[in-house]
Amino acid sequence: MGCDGAHSTIRHLLNLPFAGATYDAFFMLADTDTNETLPADEMQLCPSEFGPLAIFPMSSTRRRIVATVPTAEDTAPSLDLVQKILAQRGPKGIEARGVRWSSYFRVHHRQVAKLHVGRIFVAGDAAHIHSPIGGQGMNTGLHDVWNLAWKLDLVLHGHSREQLLDTYDAERLPVIKSVIDMTHFMTRALATPSRIAQAVRDTVIPLVSHIAPVQQGIVERLSQLGIAYTGSPIVEGAGKRCFDDSMCGGTGICSRFLLLLGEEASGATREAAGNFCASLHDLLELRISRRPGITLVRPDGYIAYADSNNHPESTFESIRSLLDRQMHQK
Ligand SMILES: Cc1cc2nc3c(=O)[nH]c(=O)nc-3n(C[C@H](O)[C@H](O)[C@H](O)COP(=O)(O)OP(=O)(O)OC[C@H]3O[C@@H](n4cnc5c(N)ncnc54)[C@H](O)[C@@H]3O)c2cc1C
Repeated sequence: MGCDGAHSTIRHLLNLPFAGATYDAFFMLADTDTNETLPADEMQLCPSEFGPLAIFPMSSTRRRIVATVPTAEDTAPSLDLVQKILAQRGPKGIEARGVRWSSYFRVHHRQVAKLHVGRIFVAGDAAHIHSPIGGQGMNTGLHDVWNLAWKLDLVLHGHSREQLLDTYDAERLPVIKSVIDMTHFMTRALATPSRIAQAVRDTVIPLVSHIAPVQQGIVERLSQLGIAYTGSPIVEGAGKRCFDDSMCGGTGICSRFLLLLGEEASGATREAAGNFCASLHDLLELRISRRPGITLVRPDGYIAYADSNNHPESTFESIRSLLDRQMHQK
């Protein structure tokens, strides 16, 4: 697995093109001591015709300042520069008092067209890079390996066909593209020179960002908790992450699937579910859940199949056929 960063040797050796482009502007980053004007649990994204500014809280008096600059002056951004950028683009009242660490860097938005060649895989910055506005890079890489690890485990232990590994590309490439599109859009929108676009942005965003569903959507998007593998060949339905207490505890589900059975299930359904899981005991663990109906959860916590219609027999048949598509019995 090539998890060897943006300059990935593995990617070069595989001859995987890294399609995309480089932003014209330089980015600067400075971990800065500040006054306590801004809340310590909020980040600020500040649009400006001079370029975007993002302020991330590190503590009540320290912040990470990320901004675009036309050129890199000196070897590293100075306190003077940080103060100038905050005065030019930042919220009122914030003061920079000292710079702990700072650096310039160039930013690209690029991704590979495929995430594996034969048995060699790429993940993280080796496979995708984008603007740091939005803070998505590390999470996207972690999701890559989270998606792949259980599949590799099942294949290596002979529980699944190798074709299961193809679903790493099928599931992650659309997510990666959407992260790149979103961060590209945010970077451009925050720095647009167009007066009309600025007016729309500065009017619409403050209005809609107070609407609860919009806030929820933004949180889901930026936290990546809203990722769904809809359309994946190994998912039936929306493919959303399962948030359920019954997944916690025990010794962990390792690379097994979970069959969640709603508390309301009858004795006969519980018995049928028990027999069904026993027939696939290496792969499937049964847990009773407050979630109604029958739900198949993948080892990475995403829902592969959900049925709340209470037709246990047809549900078990569908789940068996879904698992058969990716597994082969020992
Ligand atoms: C300024 C800035 C701010 C960012 N802020 C955020 C943020 O707020 N949130 C977020 O999620 N992400 C953020 N990111 C992105 C995040 O840092 C990266 O996406 C993440 O570190 C990528 O992890 P990675 O493991 O894929 O690659 P890397 O962190 O680059 O790790 C690759 C590793 O491979 C090693 N390596 C390379 N070649 C070889 C070789 N041939 N042999 C052995 N080892 C090798 C390297 O030494 C390195 O340790 C930011 C990035 C930048 C530049």
